[in-house]
Amino acid sequence: MKKIIVVFAVVAYVAIFFTQHVQGQGQRPPSWRPESTEWYTPVPPKVQPGTGTKPPSDAIILFDGTDLSKWESQKPPAEGSNRREPAPWKIVNGEMHIVPGSGGIQTKEYFGDCQLHIEFKSPPPKGNNIGQGRGNSGVFLQNTYELQVLDGDNNPTYVNGMVGSIYKQSAPLADAYTKNGEWQVYDVYWKAPVFDSNGLVSPAMITVTLNGILIQNNYILKGHTPYTGLPSYTPHGRLPLSLQDHGEEIAFRNIWIRNL
Ligand code: MG
Repeated sequence: MKKIIVVFAVVAYVAIFFTQHVQGQGQRPPSWRPESTEWYTPVPPKVQPGTGTKPPSDAIILFDGTDLSKWESQKPPAEGSNRREPAPWKIVNGEMHIVPGSGGIQTKEYFGDCQLHIEFKSPPPKGNNIGQGRGNSGVFLQNTYELQVLDGDNNPTYVNGMVGSIYKQSAPLADAYTKNGEWQVYDVYWKAPVFDSNGLVSPAMITVTLNGILIQNNYILKGHTPYTGLPSYTPHGRLPLSLQDHGEEIAFRNIWIRNL
């Protein structure tokens, strides 16, 4: 009796498997309709796109030409204080200018995945400054990962450190810099790295356009972007956006960000 039951079970299993996995291969279930693969909620939020230099309606405005209130000094708070100093940079004709030697600045707000718009203008070349010494600054996603800012006007340097590079990791796909003294427009799409208690779960990924030209295409970062040594990851959560003071008066304008 037992044998019969076992044989019956095996036959039934094979029959069901055949029906589901072999006979049906390449066929749509007969009950499917076009509507079966369509959905209506959740409805994406309405965003009024920006036109010209106007930011989109849901952007956080980090600098609109009037004040540095969204920013603070990168220097650690003074002893006995838990507040950083105000951003030590200046506003000139509605532009944010680095005050060389004053140190970098960072946003008061912390960010993860985001879309960032930022424009910069290189200062006139000084003397024989070339390469990394000309128009150097940087956009640091999450205070850690540098998208290089450099004068790209007839200014040779190592290509993984030129304007548009992910510093010392990824040269840009194209050289879309125009001319010294002209505004350069970065649009950045940032996927933050994810960590758990064991370390890295998924690395950071970045897409960048410079003046509308795709220069980083879903580049997967190997870690932070040191001047010396190799990149690596150290677990972190949301962090400020920061801008580098590399000793020259680079100008910035129209800085806005959208949380993703
Ligand atoms: Mg730099």
